[in-house]
Amino acid sequence: MADAVASGSSPEEKRTLRRIDELVRRGLVAERDADLLEQVAERYAVAVSPAMLALIDAGDCADPIARQFVPDPRELVVTPEERADPIGDRAYAPVKGIVHRYPDRALLKPTHVCPVYCRFCFRREQVGPEGEGLSAAELALAFDYIRTRPEIFEVIVTGGDPFVLGSRRLGEIVRTLDAIDHLGAIRFHTRVPVAAPEWIDDALIAALSAAKPVYVAIHANHSREITPAFRAACRRMAHAGISLLAQTVLLKGVNDDVAVLEGLLRALVAAGVKPYYLHHPDLARGTSHFRLSLAEGRALVSALRGRISGLCQPTYVLDIPGGVGKAPVAPSAARPRGDESWEVADYRGGRHFYPSLGEI
Ligand code: SF4
Repeated sequence: MADAVASGSSPEEKRTLRRIDELVRRGLVAERDADLLEQVAERYAVAVSPAMLALIDAGDCADPIARQFVPDPRELVVTPEERADPIGDRAYAPVKGIVHRYPDRALLKPTHVCPVYCRFCFRREQVGPEGEGLSAAELALAFDYIRTRPEIFEVIVTGGDPFVLGSRRLGEIVRTLDAIDHLGAIRFHTRVPVAAPEWIDDALIAALSAAKPVYVAIHANHSREITPAFRAACRRMAHAGISLLAQTVLLKGVNDDVAVLEGLLRALVAAGVKPYYLHHPDLARGTSHFRLSLAEGRALVSALRGRISGLCQPTYVLDIPGGVGKAPVAPSAARPRGDESWEVADYRGGRHFYPSLGEI
């Protein structure tokens, strides 16, 4: 079956798969699970793009790409701590399409559509092909909100995935934001360079062109996502002066292994993409099978410290449930000794004394 997926080139095989019967037919899920998976698909959108389909080894029941995109009956399990809006976007949404949590930055969410639907997504109850995007009037109100708040330095265009909007609508968004004097940077969050790298064409890159710095933060979780097509898409964006960042979600059964993380982070840097955030998984409903403990996450991040350079290291963060924001949660190498001096651990675990200011 893996061969059939990898070598597929018929029109049928070039389509994004959205239905459970299609996933059964392609051998990606077992027929006996179909009824349960129909229930999953009623709650959470399903899409496996051709690029992701080509990476899946359907013969491997632990395939880290399949795990991210192919629905699983365990998504029907909701644990008490899980929430519909795990990072509290709604509490900070002053107008439709805007999330303004921190004074100096705002999210702009023009669409709820994505090229794939990640099974662990923290906005899984908002995203989907039927998700309502912003109308022209609503988008104008969202721009007015940004325009009238000079404290906003950075706008993060997210969703859904803003790169599904196409070059004409993206270009309008970029031009409008570029014309707002007080903005210092425009940032896009997207999965497209992984899930549909062929969409990063000249028209899309031209649409991203602005006088202000434009950053594209790419969501990637496993080194197998860093394909030749991904690298080519990144090269085209970098040549156009776009700065590239990566966001990774730490996920049980996908990348909760120090060698896997090392491979991903190095592959990103080699593709010209700076690892930016490593997210501890959020408390989205139906995602407990992806979650590891904070202690396990911190142990992985500690182990990475001695293995990869600062350039390859992302900041390990947790979105505090309820919408109060992100917190860096990596273990600190420095511990106060109680007399204003410090004990500092080197990357091999050796402990060293660092004096208080008075002793220097
Ligand atoms: S692409 Fe992003 S917003 Fe869309 S489902 Fe995946 S994680 Fe969620």
